[in-house]
Amino acid sequence: QIDEAEVMAFSVPSYACLRRTTLDNHNPILTDALSLLAENAELSDEDGRGVAFRRAAAVLKALPETVTAVTQLRGLPCLGGHSLRVIRDILENGASSEVEFTKQSERFKALKVLTGIFGVGAKTAERWIRDGIHSLHQLQESGQTLNRAQRAGLEHYDDLKQPVTKAEADAIGEIVEKAVVSVLPGAQITLIGGFRRGKLTGHDVDFLITHPEEGREVGLMPKVVSWLESQGFLLYQKTTRNSYLEAKDGPARPASNIDRFERCFSIFKLADEEKRGAEETENPPEDRCRLAAHSQATDEGPQPTEAAGGPRRWRAVRVDLVVSPISQFAFALLGWTGSKLFERELRRWAGHEKAMSLSSHALYDNKQGRYLRATSEEEIFTHLGLEYIPPSERNA
Ligand code: ATP
Ligand code: MN
Ligand code: MN
Repeated sequence: QIDEAEVMAFSVPSYACLRRTTLDNHNPILTDALSLLAENAELSDEDGRGVAFRRAAAVLKALPETVTAVTQLRGLPCLGGHSLRVIRDILENGASSEVEFTKQSERFKALKVLTGIFGVGAKTAERWIRDGIHSLHQLQESGQTLNRAQRAGLEHYDDLKQPVTKAEADAIGEIVEKAVVSVLPGAQITLIGGFRRGKLTGHDVDFLITHPEEGREVGLMPKVVSWLESQGFLLYQKTTRNSYLEAKDGPARPASNIDRFERCFSIFKLADEEKRGAEETENPPEDRCRLAAHSQATDEGPQPTEAAGGPRRWRAVRVDLVVSPISQFAFALLGWTGSKLFERELRRWAGHEKAMSLSSHALYDNKQGRYLRATSEEEIFTHLGLEYIPPSERNA
């Protein structure tokens, strides 16, 4: 055992929540390959395999250097035979035949295109593929009935495929802030998800809303949504009410990653002026040239035009809003900051190593038979016997 440890090139703990994973990934070729196989597994209803590939990718993301030989990986956790074979293929042959085959396969390409539509999950995509639908065009021609979310997803497909920038996230933050304080003065909003972890782009923008006085947040979401709707900011929204209090099975059900907060999945209409506003106030002068150059570059592409003609002056952006009572705020913040694998690993650590159940609502100690309170993320890490990991190092 000890000899084995001494020849190890890198040493990495097996739980992602014990590691500091920044966005500075030294092995993007390997992690992209493993992430693609993870995605393919998840889209094929093989969640176990998906998690295995995600864990393997996350271990490589945590390495301080670029891997050049498989021998450097000796003793590392979470690298199963399958993942190692993929890594060896890439290191020795420059590519993994399995990854290349998957990338080219009609099935994977169709699953990607169809699940790329907001509101379409793996099961629906699978069903459509069985009916011979592989593209957006075929879907439109097929006469399949789409629900409201899917119709909105199809309508804004090109916009929603474009990564959301930090400047756009900040612009939306200003709008959400205005909405929230208009309907409930004193309410607070926090940027969560990937942008809180320091990512420069995202597939959406996530916000957590609370009020320092417990109970004041009740009924807040419908008011925020009405305000946003009345100002013309929403292209689509679906609000789900809080079901936490009605839950019969207790708040911190083990292995549950679906929470019960009042939430809103939406598509925002972000005007170009609003974007510019955020860029000018949020960025120091030297950054402005870069942003100007960037927007010029994107202007070169074909401009979307509306029926009336002329360039469109807005874009669609996916936005998630979550409302939490202040007593659960720290748990909600931790649970919605991600990454998804980091969250999964935190819950696994809590359950397997500490006999505790962690959710986005609470932390339950099964040995003491009681809930452990926390008003900050730091306190939750302490309860879990973990060193505090800041958001920027949760990019597992
Ligand atoms: P991206 O840049 O792609 O948006 P992200 O990390 O922000 O990356 P999201 O899908 O927006 O990814 O999710 C953000 C966080 O919210 C994740 O940590 C995830 O665990 C949590 N989350 C997302 N959807 C739900 C849900 N339905 N219930 C509970 N938590 C969720
Ligand atoms: Mn997100
Ligand atoms: Mn989200």
